[in-house]
Amino acid sequence: MIGSGILKGLAETARNFFGSYVSKDRLTTIQYPEERVAQIEATRDFPFLVYDGPDWHDGMRCVACQICEKECPPKCIFIEKSKDKKPDAVGKPQAYPAVFNIDISVCMSCQICVEVCPFDAIKMDVKYDLSTDDRFGGLLLDKKQLSKSNQYYNAIHPTEAAAVDAHFAEERAKAEAKAKAEAKARAAAPVTPTPILAQPVGGEAK
Ligand code: SF4
Ligand code: SF4
Repeated sequence: MIGSGILKGLAETARNFFGSYVSKDRLTTIQYPEERVAQIEATRDFPFLVYDGPDWHDGMRCVACQICEKECPPKCIFIEKSKDKKPDAVGKPQAYPAVFNIDISVCMSCQICVEVCPFDAIKMDVKYDLSTDDRFGGLLLDKKQLSKSNQYYNAIHPTEAAAVDAHFAEERAKAEAKAKAEAKARAAAPVTPTPILAQPVGGEAK
């Protein structure tokens, strides 16, 4: 019958509308911001920078390679590479971003920056209510505002963060094993005797 689809749709709408007064399952709206919908682990909105250890600056994983800046479709990442190097969380010298800003009023939450980062230094956050009445830079976040600990990353995306931690632990174990093997090989190498220059009989070489 022509129009039966419309009637079915109206009936379903009416069922949900009146049903919402008697059944909580049919009440799909909540009293935001007092009430919040529980987030799933795959929730994502804007990127943040991950740091290891207690200090955000010392532990920053980002080495300012600028790959994310180049790949970001709306070009909302701004990076300036440091002229010097700083020790990373394990004391190895690394370059770092002297400036790292993201304009989240432009960011479209595509996650491409996360996908292309070779250092697992940038990840997607779950915070969404970031609106502000500051029109001049209120949504331009700097590296300090963007930096969040690895513990925070583990809390919001436990499965993904555990996989990253396991990968880092494997890489560290491989590097340690290689360093030990090299030290052992050096210790076992035969000592080459120092050549003694022949002296002419009865006096010094002329
Ligand atoms: S999520 Fe997408 S738009 Fe946002 S900063 Fe990353 S690459 Fe750019
Ligand atoms: S976040 Fe990753 S891709 Fe972007 S500059 Fe830092 S290390 Fe490079």
